[in-house]
Amino acid sequence: MSGMTLRDTLGRPVRDLRVSVTDRCNFRCSYCMPKSVFSRNYEFLRHSELLTFEEIERLVRLFSRFGVQKVRLTGGEPLLRRDIEELVALLAAIDGLELTLTTNAVLLPEKAPALRLAGLDRLTVSLDSLDDATFRTMNDVDFPVERVLAGIDAAAATGFSPIKINMVVKRGVNDADVVPMAQHFRGTGHIVRFIEYMDVGSTNGWRLDDVVPAREIIDSIDSVIGIDPAEPNYRGEVARRWRYRDGSGEIGVIASVTQPFCGDCTRARISSEGTLYTCLFASTGHDLRALVRGGASDEAISEELGLRWRERRDRYSELRASATASSPKVEMSYIGG
Ligand code: SAM
Ligand code: SF4
Ligand code: SF4
Repeated sequence: MSGMTLRDTLGRPVRDLRVSVTDRCNFRCSYCMPKSVFSRNYEFLRHSELLTFEEIERLVRLFSRFGVQKVRLTGGEPLLRRDIEELVALLAAIDGLELTLTTNAVLLPEKAPALRLAGLDRLTVSLDSLDDATFRTMNDVDFPVERVLAGIDAAAATGFSPIKINMVVKRGVNDADVVPMAQHFRGTGHIVRFIEYMDVGSTNGWRLDDVVPAREIIDSIDSVIGIDPAEPNYRGEVARRWRYRDGSGEIGVIASVTQPFCGDCTRARISSEGTLYTCLFASTGHDLRALVRGGASDEAISEELGLRWRERRDRYSELRASATASSPKVEMSYIGG
């Protein structure tokens, strides 16, 4: 069973695994965890409900036998999970895995050295605007932009390079910040990735009108700086790459709404309480924690993983236009980006 390439009903292998380590966050980005829903009274998971580091390590190891090569730790805010570097160290000991983590950077200045030392390969930082007022509004906890920039600098000083910078673009909110963002990070070696605002979960009140299409993002940058398309680094890369014509670096654009890439989607997700999702837009998942805590053997868990991947037929983004947009979906902060 293990060791062979697993393919879903559309022939897609499993290559990437996103693991959410907490559903909590110190931000309340309106497009992800709006305050109106994620208020003081919101019931987050209890610590005992979260997968332990050992449980995560076991699942990742079993997934790696099926061909998973890249693991991204996410959340919620992954750096809020206490001693996260211990999990990084456990995963870094698994052969052949590239280990990355996505963060809002609030805790990066204090955490970057330990993460690096523990074996984290790459970092992605989310930053939606360089304009302090816009950024404070978008994170909705009045967090200043300069502290995110300090987090990025601290991580770079520790040896993370290049750092990817994720910017979710929302019409009328931060679309004016696209070009300044490109200009700021051009020449630094860091790679800004502009992300179309997605209809993840059911709490962010998503409307198609809020989406700034990738084409528009590209055109606005091209008209000021000059960019050319670049070849993907590998098949299934979600970000389309563009290079500055003057050689000062590259950017990425993630067009999940206007140019869906389900046909190449090789990504599985495990929520912080150990539920497996085979699509970001899934409304139901498969309970791995019950298996793990119920004493299942590695073989039995592998069999479940194999079964769930083999029966996978998800292509939500390709079908978005037709029917499913109003069905309940799991929240981004729960499943991880
Ligand atoms: N808290 C961490 C952070 O913000 O980097 C990690 C978790 S966050 C859910 C992962 C990524 O998902 C972030 O880069 C965030 O911008 C992105 N994201 C969240 N909601 C989104 C949405 N509705 N559309 C597009 N991207 C979204
Ligand atoms: Fe928190 Fe990240 Fe969601 Fe913002 S995008 S609310 S930082 S989990
Ligand atoms: Fe993958 Fe689902 Fe996104 Fe399509 S909609 S790219 S299947 S996560």
